[in-house]
Amino acid sequence: MASETFPGVPDEDAALGGHPEPRGTLIIGACQAGVQLATSLRELGDTEQVVLVGEEPHAPYQRPPLSKEYLKGEAGADMLTFRTHQWYADKGIGLAVRERIVQVARDDGGGEAVAESGRVFPFKRLALTTGAAARKIPFEGSEFEGVSYLRGADEAGILAGQLRGARHVAVVGGGFIGLEVAAGARAEGRNVTVIEAAPRLIGRAVSEATSGFYLDAHRRRGTEVILGAAVGRITGRHDRVTGVELADGTVVPAEVVLVGVGAVPRTELAGQLGLAVENGIVVDSRTLASDGLTVAAGDCANMPNPFVRDYGAGRIRLESVQNAV
Ligand SMILES: Cc1cc2nc3c(=O)[nH]c(=O)nc-3n(C[C@H](O)[C@H](O)[C@H](O)COP(=O)(O)OP(=O)(O)OC[C@H]3O[C@@H](n4cnc5c(N)ncnc54)[C@H](O)[C@@H]3O)c2cc1C
Repeated sequence: MASETFPGVPDEDAALGGHPEPRGTLIIGACQAGVQLATSLRELGDTEQVVLVGEEPHAPYQRPPLSKEYLKGEAGADMLTFRTHQWYADKGIGLAVRERIVQVARDDGGGEAVAESGRVFPFKRLALTTGAAARKIPFEGSEFEGVSYLRGADEAGILAGQLRGARHVAVVGGGFIGLEVAAGARAEGRNVTVIEAAPRLIGRAVSEATSGFYLDAHRRRGTEVILGAAVGRITGRHDRVTGVELADGTVVPAEVVLVGVGAVPRTELAGQLGLAVENGIVVDSRTLASDGLTVAAGDCANMPNPFVRDYGAGRIRLESVQNAV
């Protein structure tokens, strides 16, 4: 998908106002949590500089429709974008896209972040809203054309193109995203097989009864669901995927394979700052990281939660919109 299809990417230099001094807040990660933080700062009366920097080539957009309406062509890119160029300008929020921060350093008074492009972003306060990345498993054959992961808008655009015309689709991973893609493909009349390693679907997030409900619902609609199955390798011919071979030798034919096996928190920058990291950036109830200075929020943060006292040492890293806003 071309970045031009996403409206609202402001002129970066104008939006940033050309401030060379560390005067305000730098938010690294321009998506759900980052936009919410910038919005909240303005709503709470912060009049200092707020700059949102993100590596993707798009203005911040919502991810949930990527595996739903957007994939099915029922929602366009304009429906995904959170805010218009004008909104960022009106709020005085600088937005820099296509800038991957590769280096960050700070002390009590502030610091600076350096992008791959060499551009420097000085700051007084820093927030990490770097999210998560699709977990990649180096299956033999993962490099074949037609093998996809789904985290960003560009990947969704590629997957949508691959699905068009595909008769057989294999989904590795019976979690939320895999099942949503499976349901969409099945509704379009494709032969869909879901391959799940665990004995039940969405096992990390829902009860056994709910897993059973989803299993029945998918099977009733004609999706084949294979539980407790390990992937041996992905098969292909002339660089194109032809199927998934399970550890027991069964071959599931597929022209498209979506691998949806979870997400891993983006903690590279937290590591550079020496912050505590354990399944995400460890934060306290105010979302402050272990240095007591840097804020971390959204999918990248591991936070205390009174409802999970009995496991995970009372902490949880949630991947949901509700948690990011
Ligand atoms: C296909 C899909 C469907 C989903 N469906 C639902 C749903 O139905 N309901 C729900 O509640 N949740 C859903 N989610 C999860 C939800 O989208 C996330 O919880 C939410 O996007 C988290 O927001 P975030 O800002 O923390 O992280 P992200 O959305 O991951 O944003 C982080 C941003 O930081 C950027 N970044 C990272 N490192 C750097 C760096 N070094 N320099 C610059 N930029 C950087 C990333 O590129 C990214 O743009 C879905 C997710 C996906 C992928």
